Amino acid sequence: MFMSAAFPSEFRNLEAMLLGQRSAHRHQPASTFEQRAGQLEALLKLIVDNQDRIAAAISADFGHRSPHESKLAEIFPAVSAIGHTLRNLREWMQPSRRRLAVVFLPATAKVHYRPLGVVGIISPWNYPFQLAILPLVAALSAGNRVMLKPSELTPATARIIEELLSELFSPEQVSVVTGGPDVGAAFSSLPFDHLFFTGSTRVGRAVMRAAAENLTPVTLELGGKSPAIVHESFPIDQAADRIAVGKTFNAGQTCIAPDYVLIPRTRVDEFAAAFVAAVTRRFPSLQGNDDYSSVIADGHRRRLQGLIDNAKEHGARVIEINPAAESFDDGLHKMPPTLILDATDEMAVMQEEIFGPVLPVIGYESLDDAIAYVGDRPKPLALYYFDYDDGRVQNVLDRTESGGVTINDTMLHVVQDDLPFGGVGESGMGLYHGHQGFLTFSHQKAVMHQSRLSVTGIFSPPYGKAAAAGIEILSGRWKRRLPWRQ
Ligand code: NAD
Repeated sequence: MFMSAAFPSEFRNLEAMLLGQRSAHRHQPASTFEQRAGQLEALLKLIVDNQDRIAAAISADFGHRSPHESKLAEIFPAVSAIGHTLRNLREWMQPSRRRLAVVFLPATAKVHYRPLGVVGIISPWNYPFQLAILPLVAALSAGNRVMLKPSELTPATARIIEELLSELFSPEQVSVVTGGPDVGAAFSSLPFDHLFFTGSTRVGRAVMRAAAENLTPVTLELGGKSPAIVHESFPIDQAADRIAVGKTFNAGQTCIAPDYVLIPRTRVDEFAAAFVAAVTRRFPSLQGNDDYSSVIADGHRRRLQGLIDNAKEHGARVIEINPAAESFDDGLHKMPPTLILDATDEMAVMQEEIFGPVLPVIGYESLDDAIAYVGDRPKPLALYYFDYDDGRVQNVLDRTESGGVTINDTMLHVVQDDLPFGGVGESGMGLYHGHQGFLTFSHQKAVMHQSRLSVTGIFSPPYGKAAAAGIEILSGRWKRRLPWRQ
């Protein structure tokens, strides 16, 4: 392995770490089901035993993070993913048999699932445990060694991840690297066998550029503006409540949070009133309420306030939802949910991913207009459509592109172990979760096994009548029939 001369010398320790893992992988390239299952079972136990400490660390990093949210969105997905993997891994690891054209029989063709080697994982701060552990589980299930770089914005969580993983794994199996963008940049220029990045589209571009130097394949789990479209026939209170739950969970700091709402123009005010009522019912107070999480840092709160101020300057109607009329300045950096009505394209809030408890509401004339609005913008990570008419649901599914979809609710598709998760276009590339995660971190090696007796020798010179007849069998039959049409 050769590092580029441009690799920063202060990060040579990362290079040594990679070399150590690569050399261990070369000595022991393929682990058995029992070895992988043993690792995952031990990880499961460690997470379950330490769940309160993990939730406390995340809360310390955020200012305040609802412990229920941390259990639901960090611990549950991790243990569920490990359980799902353990139940299915033996089958996933089995070589899968593929069909052969008759002239190649009795040879066999199979796909073998091989570890890629050493993979790098870079994770963000918004679900700092889940988004580090889920790719780790997928990578380990496929038999890889892992270098993991958590976000610098959640240092207490990074420390506990490092502590727990080093308790369980040798540095040649799993290593944790801490640091900010400079470490991230050096990390992403290492010649990994695969680089898995979760974070912003902006940094995703830099990561892919760095990986391209090494021809390292990437999975990019990025963000974007995920729309919620409400059909005029849908009960407005139900739509408002379900969108409010998705938008206030982790104070809107979810990659698949509904970013903005498209609703028939005549129902914008009705929706706003229902949304205010839903938030008030669920959060009678905010600042002193354990169920309501903080915005990660003051800088992010200022960014979100800037979006609100900018929308006001451009003529938006702004509704701040502060049921107990609290003040929000005692260092927890909590922020009240805020509606932006009459949002337009000139407003900054419609030009960037919001990633906080701010919800623009946009009125549409017809469903076709709403679909066109979404289609005119970069493909989002998620799309939510509220409608109980199956025909119209199918129409929306057929005419919109997004990484994933939940119909009649928000965000639930991400917690299904048996559904692939990932973006499309600017919201990312590549998939993971469940079987898809195993495949992402596996090399699918094609293995053709020739038999002692074979007729394929006829397809070599000097070509005779047998070769002509064989070629006719291989390709000539398509002249006569299209079997899939019969
Ligand atoms: P970010 O892109 O700022 O940072 C993500 C990680 O990249 C951090 O570990 C950071 O240290 C590292 N990093 C920063 N600069 C780097 C560089 N030049 N090279 C390599 N690594 C670098 O993202 P964030 O603010 O932590 O997270 C928020 C974003 O992540 C949002 O856009 C959100 O939508 C997205 N996100 C996506 C998913 C998903 O699954 N698709 C999940 C969560 C968050």
